[in-house]
Amino acid sequence: MPNNSPVWHPFTQHALAPEALNIARAEGAWLETADGRRIFDAVSSWWVITHGHCHPKIIEAIREQATKLDQVIFAGCTHEPAEKLASKLIDLVNSSLKSTATRRLSHVFYSDSGSTAVEVALKMALGYWRNTGEPRTKIIAMEYGYHGDTIGTMSAGARGVFNAAYEALLFDVKRIPFPKAGSEQATLDALRDATADRSAACLIVEPLVLGAGGMMMYDAATLAIMKQICEASGTLFVADEVMTGWGRSGTLLACEQAAIVPDIMGLAKGLTGGSMPLAVTLCSQAIFDAHYSTDRTKTFFHSSSYTANPIACAAALANVDIWLTEPVLERIARLTRTQSECLAEFRHDSRFENVRQTGTIAALDLMAADAGYLANVGPKVTAHALEHGILLRPLGNTVYVMPPYCTTADELKRVYDVLGSMTRQ
Ligand code: PMP
Repeated sequence: MPNNSPVWHPFTQHALAPEALNIARAEGAWLETADGRRIFDAVSSWWVITHGHCHPKIIEAIREQATKLDQVIFAGCTHEPAEKLASKLIDLVNSSLKSTATRRLSHVFYSDSGSTAVEVALKMALGYWRNTGEPRTKIIAMEYGYHGDTIGTMSAGARGVFNAAYEALLFDVKRIPFPKAGSEQATLDALRDATADRSAACLIVEPLVLGAGGMMMYDAATLAIMKQICEASGTLFVADEVMTGWGRSGTLLACEQAAIVPDIMGLAKGLTGGSMPLAVTLCSQAIFDAHYSTDRTKTFFHSSSYTANPIACAAALANVDIWLTEPVLERIARLTRTQSECLAEFRHDSRFENVRQTGTIAALDLMAADAGYLANVGPKVTAHALEHGILLRPLGNTVYVMPPYCTTADELKRVYDVLGSMTRQ
């Protein structure tokens, strides 16, 4: 795009950033620029694209819905795509989580981004305690967590360069340490301490992988114990599956691997296969019931203009249909295997450390003098990859590869060949 464009891009320092790529079309795992360059989307367009760009079934569903109902106010009105999608999500999520009659997610609240899904989750947790008469307001969150860019979700997220300018407005949360391999007990002890006096409203976590915090991974056994600790004190367990959901962690949901059913769960990104902005916050019957009353003050006061947009719901229905009728988990297993093979080559490469993987998510840290989100190697990796037709966007010195599930072994190997061809930093 021309340098005099009026567009202000997200997470972009315009004084330093190269000219934005002008993408005209996309198909499968590939983007195409207006001047005809093909670029491999190794970051699934900010982790949203699951099956591949422009999956024909999703595009057809969008086209068909757009001719029938584009948008309608969702307070006092409902529509078939939202109703069908909610039922199908409840079935799919509960069967994946092997929920029981007493431990299941029963209601779906629509919004339009990962941040709003989490903001809604936090408000549901606080509303639950207020409406049931127990004044619990403390939120427990994890070190290095990222939950979005609204004031509430930034408050739950780690403090750092992302939110330093707004620090004075962010509310305090109780922070527990990241359960680094070998130090899990410290996390569990801190959680036990934070919940012991039964004053915590909820714990919010990214299950198994902390995304924007640097693709930090921890084990399912620790996640399972964290849930038990929360149960012992009645602390609500909020799972932010915005990144890990829809197969990224190797299973439909990361919580499946720990055999836990959260009280509240946020899903976004891959909900529409990455085609349209839509998010959901699922909750248990108890959370819904706490807001169900003839007392109007107990209403769940949250909305946005585009809540449950019918076209986005139709796209999500097509995504659910793809999950139910196509071998999505097989594709994920194949991509997971290829990721491990490719990563193996880097385990003894002295330029990298912390080579790691959870499902389809692979990450490794470039040895750099200036680690952290603003590390100078990040833009250098991006530029080097782009010269070779690959879109990568490291988180500081953490390089991650998270491509769509339709990626072939040859395509993925090329990404790692290009990464390996980088000269020493
Ligand atoms: N939670 C997690 C775990 C995320 O990774 C993200 C986005 N990267 C968000 C919330 C916020 O999602 P969105 O950008 O759609 O608002």
